[in-house]
Amino acid sequence: MDNFELSIELEFCAAHILKGHKGKCSNLHGHNYKVEVCISGNKLNEIGILLDFADIKESVNKVIEKLDHKYLNEIDYKPFIEGKTSAEYIAKYIYDNLSKDFNTSNYKVHFVKVHETSKYSVKYSKS
Ligand SMILES: [Zn+2]
Repeated sequence: MDNFELSIELEFCAAHILKGHKGKCSNLHGHNYKVEVCISGNKLNEIGILLDFADIKESVNKVIEKLDHKYLNEIDYKPFIEGKTSAEYIAKYIYDNLSKDFNTSNYKVHFVKVHETSKYSVKYSKS
């Protein structure tokens, strides 16, 4: 069967405290997060695309706007309120919110990857 994977990248900045972390991350600090979203599917539309990149970007932006220039520990999401503002939970938060827009029989969110730094990233997907 055909399989197409479309990826886009966006960025946002946010402050956080990772509660209980043994190192520096338990202090208030910020990151310029890079977010990579991959949508996969097998059925192209009448003009030969799976989805318009602009539509993906719009949906991802809607989710990221809720995090951009915010203090993550104050965002109304249970793990964040509990101090679990890890890249793992940021990736899951974006994935779960995006899945509402991209969950059809033609395509779905394949994974969300959150880069906390240029060297550290977390990739989240659901099996
Ligand atoms: Zn951090």
